[in-house]
Amino acid sequence: MARDRTDEPEDAVLREVWRDVLRRDPHQQFFHSDVRGVLRSIGPVLVEHPEYVEVVGRLCEPERVIVFRIPWTDDAGRVRVHRGFRVQFNSALGPYKGGLRFAPSVDLDIIKFLGFEQVFKNALTGQDIGGAKGGADVDPKALSSGELMRFCQSFATELACHVGAAVDVPAGDMGVGSREIGWIYGQYQRLIGYHEPGAFTGKPAVLGGSALRPEATGYGVVYFTRRMLAEQDRDLDGARVVVSGSGNVALFAMDKVVASGGTVVGCSDSRGSISEPDGVDVELLREVKGQGGSVADYAEKRSGASTADGSPFTQECDVALPCATQNELGADEARALVQNGCRVVAEGANGPVTPEAREILRDGGVAFGPGKAANSGGVAVSALEMQQNAGRERWSAQDVDERLSVIMSDAYDRVRDAAERYHGDGADLENGANAAGFLRVAEAMTSLGVV
Ligand code: GLU
Repeated sequence: MARDRTDEPEDAVLREVWRDVLRRDPHQQFFHSDVRGVLRSIGPVLVEHPEYVEVVGRLCEPERVIVFRIPWTDDAGRVRVHRGFRVQFNSALGPYKGGLRFAPSVDLDIIKFLGFEQVFKNALTGQDIGGAKGGADVDPKALSSGELMRFCQSFATELACHVGAAVDVPAGDMGVGSREIGWIYGQYQRLIGYHEPGAFTGKPAVLGGSALRPEATGYGVVYFTRRMLAEQDRDLDGARVVVSGSGNVALFAMDKVVASGGTVVGCSDSRGSISEPDGVDVELLREVKGQGGSVADYAEKRSGASTADGSPFTQECDVALPCATQNELGADEARALVQNGCRVVAEGANGPVTPEAREILRDGGVAFGPGKAANSGGVAVSALEMQQNAGRERWSAQDVDERLSVIMSDAYDRVRDAAERYHGDGADLENGANAAGFLRVAEAMTSLGVV
């Protein structure tokens, strides 16, 4: 792939790091794009902290990349094989931490991108956790429950020697929920021969999963959005909100929007989108989705709802929360949001807004909350789950919710302060998130020596 030379960082050290990244893995476009964004943001940090310059090259190279075969037998007795990944990106702040994604699109590029993102995200939570990501190129929806359990067991058998409560603590992500984490943990426990609940988070409650872990990312993105709106002297009360996606993140974000006085005027799933100006009935949507239905099936039950093939973000709204998947909100949607007077876009998913779309939003005066800050509530409550498991404690949902709300608010302050300090008044939060995340990780890496 030919790259525009003007895309290169001006600073000589950063340019060298960038060229190394391209040379080592010339085809990893998701990873490149994420690294490029970080390099763009940290120049001013390095002027103030020249001692962190040498960290950048190390930071862009994962500490360890594990790729493995996952053999299993399907219901028809056929032997199948998939590929598994765990990218242990950075452990300067604590044990590697990050989710497992099961999706056909999973490859090393995606997992490295998500792992790199996780390093900064985890740093922004203020918790002591490093960054990692993993998964497999499997479509869990195409498997029976028995097949998926056997798949998880085979996956865990290969992963077991690389994880542990003080080593690497995986959790869920797309296609991996508490049921799958329970199966993976179950196989892990058989292999190691003792209980170690802190080795995985997002477990079923009965196995030591934290209260509010399923809700955490969705609630967290709304807490972050509230702070973004407050900066503009607005709030969610009376706001029209579009939320894409129909997994945990989206549904719990919708719940919190409604509880905050907002109206969910549009939503979507992989099969299409709907518009409902009077407000989506989130409980009914949850019920329809829980029975395997689509948002279109939901819309059929509601007289005020209409369906569309395209993106949900082309309708009028004050706030947009992309909570589906990477690159779902591109230039066309960004233009529509600017034109329709949207005030805030915050990423509930990882990387849903394309770089081009981010620029259009920025130029159009729409505040943008980057995922590494806005959706950090999930991994933050995972860190709280690790604390509970280590202390053999169980905290109430209210206790966890209060802590989550403080963590999101602190993350917002960290990001906004770094944006202003290094990129000037009114600077965008993406630069702030990269700068603030980098500062914390770079300080830890420097303190550890060259390791
Ligand atoms: N997969 C989630 C994320 O992208 C959560 C990871 C975790 O809880 O470790 O942040």
